[in-house]
Amino acid sequence: MALKPATQLAVAGGTPVRSTFLPYGHQDIREEDIAAVVSVLRSEWLTTGPTVEEFETGFAAEVGARHAVSYSSGTAALHGAMFAVGIGAGDEVVTSPLSFCATANCVLYQGGLPVFADVEPGTLNLSPERAAAAITSRTRVLLPVDYAGQPAALDAFRRLAEKHDLIVIEDACHALGAEFGGREVGGISHMTVFSFHPVKHIATGEGGMVTTDDEGFARRLRAFRNHGIESDARRRQAAGEWHYEMTELGYNYRLTDIACALGLSQLARLPANLTRRREIARRYQSSLAGLPGLRLLQVGNDVKPAWHLFPVLLDLPRLRAGRAEIFRALRAENIGVNVHYIPVHLHPYYRKRFGDQLGKYPAAEAAYESLLSLPMFHAMTDSDVSDVVAAIEKVLLHYAGK
Ligand SMILES: *Cc1c(COP(=O)(O)O)cnc(C)c1O
Repeated sequence: MALKPATQLAVAGGTPVRSTFLPYGHQDIREEDIAAVVSVLRSEWLTTGPTVEEFETGFAAEVGARHAVSYSSGTAALHGAMFAVGIGAGDEVVTSPLSFCATANCVLYQGGLPVFADVEPGTLNLSPERAAAAITSRTRVLLPVDYAGQPAALDAFRRLAEKHDLIVIEDACHALGAEFGGREVGGISHMTVFSFHPVKHIATGEGGMVTTDDEGFARRLRAFRNHGIESDARRRQAAGEWHYEMTELGYNYRLTDIACALGLSQLARLPANLTRRREIARRYQSSLAGLPGLRLLQVGNDVKPAWHLFPVLLDLPRLRAGRAEIFRALRAENIGVNVHYIPVHLHPYYRKRFGDQLGKYPAAEAAYESLLSLPMFHAMTDSDVSDVVAAIEKVLLHYAGK
């Protein structure tokens, strides 16, 4: 039997570039993380105890914010931020359609209306010009997303907010550790929201955080995650007080001490994690730049992305296959590519509730048709990165030329 050429696609029966599957993201749990969790399990406080405060204090210091308020997920944290500004019926929040659906859902939770504005085709971040055009007398909040970990045009959004008396809530679920104009994401916008889902930079299982410099927002954020009750259990116990008052309708969105122990332990490795992600991004950029059939995201001069994801755009007019076929071919090579995101306005729920908006945000929709996220997590080895590059080259070469 003739040997199969190395260039034959695995999807067509050839040998895959890798023998094991490489996911697009993965948590990094070490013995020290496990020991930290175990020590909380042996302690008095499983939730709303000292480790929550320790994690919040450490996190606030890490991102250069005055306050950090933990939540049970990034989604709950977004909800809390919407509550803190008092979003309610009739209020509009301008945001990006190219995000995880939670970004817009949090507005709906509060009875507000998410208003989408298109993204910039180069960075896939919310366009300040498109956002400005979407502002009405009912707009209260600008909600940019730091797509893939590259900060949005935060200075432009801040100026817009000042001009129209709005609040900027930044969805930085991709961007822990990113920098904008030399400043750390988390201390720039009025409120900044993070997620600790296992694929994000640090993992607590489920978990999230809102950072802010504003004392009033911080107080409302703390009450909202605890049923709308003003003082927490530990302080009451310390003061020997039984009295508490529920002054607003809140939820139980608390993060446990167990989760915070994991977060605190992971936070210590964030700088190393970021260094590695940036190294992987540089390798991808230098190996993939100029490859026919592929475009990389543009990166601004004034930003340092945190690279939660590494999305690339297929140059479909130059390829003989669509994204779905190329996606399947790469998966068959054992490269765990993914797609971020199906634009939020195209989800059935949004279509049903707000009508068919197909064609309304052409840059986001065009990006969606051609996006692929390459594996990106800090435990990836150089040889993993080389495998991804080899598989991309193999598959794109196969489908090159139209
Ligand atoms: C992950 C993510 C969220 C939601 O975070 P969870 O912790 O999963 O609830 C929100 N927005 C964006 C952009 C995300 O990537």
